[in-house]
Amino acid sequence: MGIQATRGTRDILPEEIGNWQRIEAIARETLARAAYQEIRTPIFEQTDLFERGIGEATDVVGKEMYTFKDRGDRSITLRPEGTAGVVRSYIEHGMQAQGGVQRLWYTGAMFRYERPQAGRQRQFHQLGVEVLGSGDVRADAEVIAIATDILQSIGLKNLTLQLNSIGNADDRQNYRAALIEFLTPFKDKLDPDSQTRLTKNPLRILDSKDAQTQAILENAPSILDYLSAESKQRFDRVQALLQDLGIPCNINARLVRGLDYYTHTVFEIQSDDLGAQATVCAGGRYDGLVAQLGGADTPAVGWAMGLERLVILLQKMQQTQASPIDFYIVSRGEKAEAQALKLAQSLRRIGFATELDMSGSAFGKQFKRADRSGAAACLILGDAEAENGTVQLKWLKTGEQSAIAQAALLSNADQLRQQLAERSGA
Ligand code: ATP
Ligand code: MG
Repeated sequence: MGIQATRGTRDILPEEIGNWQRIEAIARETLARAAYQEIRTPIFEQTDLFERGIGEATDVVGKEMYTFKDRGDRSITLRPEGTAGVVRSYIEHGMQAQGGVQRLWYTGAMFRYERPQAGRQRQFHQLGVEVLGSGDVRADAEVIAIATDILQSIGLKNLTLQLNSIGNADDRQNYRAALIEFLTPFKDKLDPDSQTRLTKNPLRILDSKDAQTQAILENAPSILDYLSAESKQRFDRVQALLQDLGIPCNINARLVRGLDYYTHTVFEIQSDDLGAQATVCAGGRYDGLVAQLGGADTPAVGWAMGLERLVILLQKMQQTQASPIDFYIVSRGEKAEAQALKLAQSLRRIGFATELDMSGSAFGKQFKRADRSGAAACLILGDAEAENGTVQLKWLKTGEQSAIAQAALLSNADQLRQQLAERSGA
């Protein structure tokens, strides 16, 4: 066996690329309409950025980073997520000095050393947004609404929005104490990770995927009972705005981000159709991060979607086949083959998706490939057609066939387009 793709990575093959392109195109359009601008940051950064920007107490930094020394003895890390790089860039390029709000989005490959399984890879892709410079609750609602729009336009169903507030730093300090007090008697029954977190980062325990830990948490105090009046009011306003926008949500008091620079709103969008890896979009407000990374105090909110999981959902719906082609051209004989190439190029130029059979094999074999190609029609050029400048146009669904001058075919593009539409709609 030759060399295979590294564990946790995979090729995205031509037959799957349609779904990827569709998701990207929908996101791009939706974000452009909301005045978000794309930003592309490097795939690797100084390790320190992620240690400070994601937090050393997290799984991502603690166990999952691809970190190595480069030839200049610098510690480099392949980005495990997009926010830290975007915020670094925002600070480095003085985007806050331009005043107002920056609405940014990004997409690209991310890297985490995880146990590969369905919907979980070591190289995976995210698409995310960051709104920097607005502490307004409307920014929280806007980013959620945009995520919802994108997922809806892709055609996904059975999604639920889980929403929570983790309040401000003081609220969390109080809650933290209550949670530690509640969990300490159960310490020995918690999973090992949660035991370590009990003193270091107890909020992260709520995130545990261990069944016994989750059972213990059933009766744990709720963060929502520890919100200050101001935080509570904020949370109520976010909910009211979402309701106005017609976006239903479930309040989930277990949803957390365990780091100090996260504040107030946190949310996840989950699918009922994905099994264990159910979250397709996760985000929240991170008012402390820009300052944490050395910038001016800047409120911010954002989210990231996992594209592999969206593609899995699309495939399950079997919504898209390979992008359909209009014409499949078969030809035989020197003159006909030359004309076929020219006809293919002419059709492509006026907007028709055209595949040219270049095998030179017998017509019979070429026809079989035409049938399999998914094209709406086959164009046939033999010696006779080449001689008088015509082509046989055969509609593959019905088998109807007629001769038409090549020039007429090309000059009646509108009529042809209409015929294609009528026949594909059937
Ligand atoms: P999970 O609990 O599934 O590990 P997470 O909290 O680590 O998710 P985030 O860091 O919030 O995830 O990333 C946002 C989204 O990116 C996730 O909801 C998921 O859709 C996707 N994602 C995260 N890690 C992976 C991975 N290893 N492979 C594929 N997609 C991923
Ligand atoms: Mg994870």
